[in-house]
Amino acid sequence: DDRISRISSSIRVIPDFPKPGIMFHDITTMLLNPVAFKDTIDLFIERYKDKNISVVAGVEARGFIFGPPIALAIGAKFVPMRKPSKLPGAVISEEYSLEYGSDIMEMHVGAVEAGERTLVIDDLIATGGTLEAAIKLLERVGANIVECACVIELRNLKLRKCYKELDYGHKRKVN
Ligand code: IMP
Repeated sequence: DDRISRISSSIRVIPDFPKPGIMFHDITTMLLNPVAFKDTIDLFIERYKDKNISVVAGVEARGFIFGPPIALAIGAKFVPMRKPSKLPGAVISEEYSLEYGSDIMEMHVGAVEAGERTLVIDDLIATGGTLEAAIKLLERVGANIVECACVIELRNLKLRKCYKELDYGHKRKVN
């Protein structure tokens, strides 16, 4: 599929951002290229359109870029999974660990009902910790997670272990 190479070459890698030693995969250059951006969304739509999915949950912040067009195309609702103290209504929260320290993810109570078939979207998976937090939050309200999907996979040993444990995730690797 030559769309994959088009998508891959539209993503730029910036060394030492936000900290020395980190190779930051920047999808904003893909957004400047409407063909590559559409290719990306189309690939997700093709995979998820006939899967009876009623919820697309997008992880802040870049899951908010890719999630909504997929949700609209497959006829699902979009649910934002947000950083703490951003959502105005009643929330449920999940704390999760990062490489240094921890963070909290929140979701509105009532946004997802028990049994709803749910797709989780983010731009990038590294260790899988962020997606794991999203899965835990959604499973606490009884969601049925169909898959997690990202544009980019950073491959490493820790990630593979995580996949094995979680047994979730559709991976679309671009590098
Ligand atoms: P994980 O929790 O280790 O899998 O990291 C994934 C999260 O960190 C996602 O929400 C990404 O948006 C963010 N992230 C980590 N590295 C990068 C990067 O190189 N570019 C963009 N986002 C990144």
